[in-house]
Amino acid sequence: MRKGSYYTQVAIIGGGISGAALLFMLSRYTQIESVMLFEKYGKPATLNSSAKANSQTLHIGDIETNYDFGKAKKVSTSSSMVANFITHFNYEGSIGFRKPKMVLAVGEEEIAELKKRYSAFKTLFPYLELWDKGALEEIEPMLTKGRKEPILAMGTKDKITTVDFEKLSQTFIELSKDEHCAVDLKFNTEVTHITKKWDKFLIHTDKGEFMSDAVVVNAGAHSLLLAHEMGYGDKYAMLPIGGSFYFAKTQLLHAKVYTMQNPKLPFAAVHGDPDLTANWRTRFGPTAFAMMTLERYHDMEILNLFDLLSLDRSVLGVYYDLMKDEDIRAYIMRNFVHELPHIGNEFFIKEVRKLIPTLSSDDIEYADGYGGMRPQIIDKKAKKLLLGEAKIDTGKGIIFNMTPSPGASSCLGNAFEDAKILCDFLGVDLLKRKIKKELCDEKEYCYINRQPHR
Ligand SMILES: Cc1cc2nc3c(=O)[nH]c(=O)nc-3n(C[C@H](O)[C@H](O)[C@H](O)COP(=O)(O)OP(=O)(O)OC[C@H]3O[C@@H](n4cnc5c(N)ncnc54)[C@H](O)[C@@H]3O)c2cc1C
Repeated sequence: MRKGSYYTQVAIIGGGISGAALLFMLSRYTQIESVMLFEKYGKPATLNSSAKANSQTLHIGDIETNYDFGKAKKVSTSSSMVANFITHFNYEGSIGFRKPKMVLAVGEEEIAELKKRYSAFKTLFPYLELWDKGALEEIEPMLTKGRKEPILAMGTKDKITTVDFEKLSQTFIELSKDEHCAVDLKFNTEVTHITKKWDKFLIHTDKGEFMSDAVVVNAGAHSLLLAHEMGYGDKYAMLPIGGSFYFAKTQLLHAKVYTMQNPKLPFAAVHGDPDLTANWRTRFGPTAFAMMTLERYHDMEILNLFDLLSLDRSVLGVYYDLMKDEDIRAYIMRNFVHELPHIGNEFFIKEVRKLIPTLSSDDIEYADGYGGMRPQIIDKKAKKLLLGEAKIDTGKGIIFNMTPSPGASSCLGNAFEDAKILCDFLGVDLLKRKIKKELCDEKEYCYINRQPHR
């Protein structure tokens, strides 16, 4: 592809972690000759993939009690590719960090549940350990100080658990420039719509038109909007869920500490994480509240939002089902209050005390400028809120990805799935052996050797 060319074999829309990982996957591991990446802002990963937007957790499924066995298996195969990338390409200590992590059970009921989970999941994650109060006094003393209830934790001390997804996005893009594939980066270029002309796609942007043989839309919350405009994904609507954080005034935890999931609640419970953007000060969160925007700290056109919300009977039915449950209603109200200045602290501290009983509301502060949006998908036909990622593979050379959590952890797994589809469509080779060598650890989980769940 010549510089300044208007044609590319593959166009990627969106320069967050998903778009950047796909660019790397295509340029290094396929025979695709040219890729153009369109990003509306001036640099990669300014939205949900920014280090300040998410919890920086490499989700494996071992301590996430909101995942069942099937989901944990799928997520672990996918996210272990990120851990393997970090090790193979030598980014430990700069992009990926080994920090202990655990899930904490508080009270007899949660302890029984955790023990059951430990037995069921240890075949999948043989490295997990159980830590009683005595062990926790050594590992993470703040969890035990002033604690009356019995506790038990399940965790591990020596895995890559913390990832700077913003730096990872930048690195994927930098590395792809050194490959055989011609990479053309179009920053500050917003894709307004996409049309089809004969067998090509026309990418309409605020900087002119471009043409491609295939397209992957990794535009976060905007992916569904672009899909709807092309007549795809009508069965999906979106519920944009904002997530905010609170900081402790000092570093209190060395480990990532998750809490047991209340199975009734739709989003993961609050956790405490050492934050890599703030000298490892402890960051608590995220909260979860519905927001009338697709981008945190940016405005958007209200008409676009209404298109995505698709407030018809089936979507309103999902909202009704969510709100009729007393626990969920209380959860939504609580999360709304967490956003309010001053009194937010007073309410949020109650959640945090499950982790650190001795903290008071003066010990935490709202993390201004932190947090992001999770584009949660509603399946209108099934009348269900889907709690993971969603992909619309049209089978016609254009794919749309919607990536709420754990989209950053699964970035290489998703990119691998898309690379397979694109290589089939374009009739080019995917270099599976090279992927296996560099991104799959045969001692742990190898994505290529497994049948991914759909
Ligand atoms: C509070 C919170 C905590 C989270 N914690 C974790 C975690 O600990 N671990 C984890 O794995 N995941 C976590 N996630 C999820 C994770 O952040 C996302 O799954 C991931 O960042 C999604 O990446 P993406 O590239 O698909 O989307 P984004 O990062 O949103 O990037 C989309 C990109 O597309 C661009 N774009 C949009 N429209 C256009 C257009 N029309 N033209 C050109 N460019 C466009 C945007 O500018 C943006 O750069 C969390 C999310 C939130 C909100």
